[in-house]
Amino acid sequence: MSEHFDLIVLGAGSGGLAAAKRAASHGARVAIVEGDRVGGTCVIRGCVPKKLLVYGSAYAQLLADAPSYGWPVPPVQPDPATLLRHVRAEVDRLNQLHIGFLERAGVELVRGWGRFADAGTVIVSQADGAERELRAERVLIAVGGRPHRPAIPGADLGWVSDDLFLLESLPEAVVVVGGGFIACEFACILHGLGVKVTQLVRGDHLLRGFDREASLAVQEAMEEAGIEIRFAHSPSAITGQCAPGEYTVTTQSGEQIPCGGVLLATGRRPFLQGLNLEAAGVAVEGHRIPVDADQRTNVPSIYAVGDVTDRVNLTPVAVDEGRAFADSVFGQRPRQVNHELVAVAVFSQPELAAVGLSEEQAVARHGAGAIRVHRARFRPMSQALPARGPRALLKLVVETASDRVLGCHMVGDHAAEIIQMAAIAIGMGATKADFDRTMALHPSVAEEFVTMPN
Ligand code: NDP
Repeated sequence: MSEHFDLIVLGAGSGGLAAAKRAASHGARVAIVEGDRVGGTCVIRGCVPKKLLVYGSAYAQLLADAPSYGWPVPPVQPDPATLLRHVRAEVDRLNQLHIGFLERAGVELVRGWGRFADAGTVIVSQADGAERELRAERVLIAVGGRPHRPAIPGADLGWVSDDLFLLESLPEAVVVVGGGFIACEFACILHGLGVKVTQLVRGDHLLRGFDREASLAVQEAMEEAGIEIRFAHSPSAITGQCAPGEYTVTTQSGEQIPCGGVLLATGRRPFLQGLNLEAAGVAVEGHRIPVDADQRTNVPSIYAVGDVTDRVNLTPVAVDEGRAFADSVFGQRPRQVNHELVAVAVFSQPELAAVGLSEEQAVARHGAGAIRVHRARFRPMSQALPARGPRALLKLVVETASDRVLGCHMVGDHAAEIIQMAAIAIGMGATKADFDRTMALHPSVAEEFVTMPN
């Protein structure tokens, strides 16, 4: 017998949780279906545990700098096993917290994997083999994405980012494949935790899509710290036993790199497997579910938000898409999400954060003669006593005719925190003169944004 709801949400990650709770707050009867742990990528195997590992691994630099500040800390060895255990405990706590939030919101959590039987019916296969049939007026697909492994022999011997959070210890040497967000973040985490890291990047620079000068500043700092980055290198095969220290990555040029583990950080894809979208008539484009500005798929009663739609694949965007859907459909408050000017950060060490156009994007959109670039590149005061460590980069891309700041980029400590605030000004259409009129807060790194000469 089927159970009836106003809304079935498939996936209890950032977008699904936000949509389910908001719809329930508008009075809807909501079921949320999740086959894995409540919290999704961000909470369980992404942003949150990753950031905790970033904090943990950053102590390497702090401890190295400590003697110059009068703390004669002798060289100490990191204990990644303890860090990983503590991170898992925090993830467990947050997982329980989110389950509690659902209960308090009055959302029914249905554990198991959901598949469409038709546009309004979802069958949930539970872990014990039993099935539940749910029916609803509307269904929201918020199943997120999964790491994508390259099609090379031995790819299944490598880790994807999900796997790293489950490790009990770290090997001596790791090969990281990829030059994007996850590759750079984990290369820095692993390096900070004492692992020798070799990063294989198929292109000629890191972090494609970011401001080129900013990505070069990250690269320079990572290389200075001791991470070996090899550009124009891709793996052609991974061989080895499932024992630490016994893997070999063969590159396309035939080089062999021995290591204790391989991280394949080669992108993520929407997780459509098992949804039986055909039964509901939901169209798929490439690997993603396309939606209109109201998060609606080609089937009027079925919506999708977050990474499964492969638009701007970031937690706050999925959350906003989920809430906009719920407000529009169940709250009589129709609204759409603004996908422009989304601030973004890479939690490499040092951090890179940006909002708006890169210099390259601004040139492509407005022409090289129509923009000005202002920059400051310096060693921050925090590095003055150690007299080493990464240099910061702060950069403004300005439209000459209007003086409007089109892009704001930073590489350095707390870049994400600083750019988050700059994003308010950029979103309001701030000009370089507005930045200049702002009194500097001294001594700080961010004051450079308001003191750059014209
Ligand atoms: P990215 O798309 O950022 O990077 C993928 C990298 O893998 C690129 O360098 C790409 O090269 C390379 N690559 C792809 N296929 C192959 C292959 N077959 N062989 C060798 N290299 C390959 O993906 P990520 O997995 O790093 O991250 C996925 C998404 O998750 C991000 O785009 C972001 O939306 C989100 N994310 C956000 C974070 C944040 O906000 N801080 C942190 C982590 C993830 P090329 O550039 O040449 O295509």
